[in-house]
Amino acid sequence: MKPIVIVGMGLAGTCTAWNFWHRGVPFRIVDSGRPGSSVVAAGLIHPVTGKQCTVAPDFAVRREQAETFYRTIEALVSTQCWHPLEVWRLLSQEEVKKKISRFESGVAASWVLGIEKQARWPEETAVLLRGGARLDVAHFLQISRDFFAAQNCYRQGECPLPQQNELTILCEGAEGLMRGNPVAWRHRCARGEILTVHAPNWRQERMVTGRGWLVPVGQDCYKVGATYEWDQLERGPTTEGMKRLREMAQFLGGPDFEVVAHEAGVRPILRQSQPVAGRLDENLYVLNGLGSKGSLYAPWASEQLVNHILDGKEMESTLCVASYFANLA
Ligand SMILES: Cc1cc2nc3c(=O)[nH]c(=O)nc-3n(C[C@H](O)[C@H](O)[C@H](O)COP(=O)(O)OP(=O)(O)OC[C@H]3O[C@@H](n4cnc5c(N)ncnc54)[C@H](O)[C@@H]3O)c2cc1C
Repeated sequence: MKPIVIVGMGLAGTCTAWNFWHRGVPFRIVDSGRPGSSVVAAGLIHPVTGKQCTVAPDFAVRREQAETFYRTIEALVSTQCWHPLEVWRLLSQEEVKKKISRFESGVAASWVLGIEKQARWPEETAVLLRGGARLDVAHFLQISRDFFAAQNCYRQGECPLPQQNELTILCEGAEGLMRGNPVAWRHRCARGEILTVHAPNWRQERMVTGRGWLVPVGQDCYKVGATYEWDQLERGPTTEGMKRLREMAQFLGGPDFEVVAHEAGVRPILRQSQPVAGRLDENLYVLNGLGSKGSLYAPWASEQLVNHILDGKEMESTLCVASYFANLA
């Protein structure tokens, strides 16, 4: 087999690297050092998503795969980056009329621990869910980089064009999708802003979602997010973003907080946050389109890709890059 080069060390490239490492196959991983969206991501995993309160059909399976994957790495380097969490999903009175049945007997019912009123959100109905988690993405990337640097297989730098004598795997995130070279993607990348706040009075141990989300990250700090914008993707944090995030923080957590950080990133989105992986040409492979669910999908998608490259195993059709382009045609 030709030498393997992974380009990009966000969640996609890092999980791909771990899969090669678990299989005992040598590789090099190269990253430009420009912060991608993984550096910004809150790493949330929760069963009931979106305004429609849906549960992805593959959620339970992917969550189990993700937990096993991250726990294996935690054990290997003696650290913690996976944090299981219960979730408050807040429903407005209007939402209760239309959606409560989904939690009582519908798609989300098996994830519900209770439905109640909470003094903190007197106008809302609070649904308590199991199955949430937070991946500390920044920590996961850091321990992985340190580990692979110690094995001499990580290098910081720009990757030159793919070489004929190597097998290159592009894990370039939104940057790669927007560049449109060597492949013209039809992307729907979305810019997002996020706050880190310090709020000792909030004393919230659960993730809270509904009109945004907040998640405890330790030492009385919380991440609060996130905005979605589909234009001017290159812009960094904005004053409008700050205003909206402050409103979310106030509603979900309370009035007393101090902003510690305000960041922006671009989610790599191809089709409803469903990733795409596979072969582009003889020496070139890709894993991208992790969307807003990179923490959940990266372990599964990268394992599928690595098994495909090493064993010729067919990938699940929902992931396969060939079916992505066939559907575009
Ligand atoms: C505000 C916000 C909040 C989010 N919250 C969550 C969340 O709660 N849960 C969740 O699961 N996901 C979340 N996401 C989404 C998550 O960030 C993405 O799904 C995931 O990080 C994408 O990972 P990636 O590796 O594909 O891309 P990236 O993280 O962007 O990594 C790509 C890397 O490739 C490098 N690169 C690109 N081109 C080259 C080149 N030619 N040579 C060398 N290096 C190169 C870049 O520098 C970068 O480091 C969020 C995103 C945003 C913006």
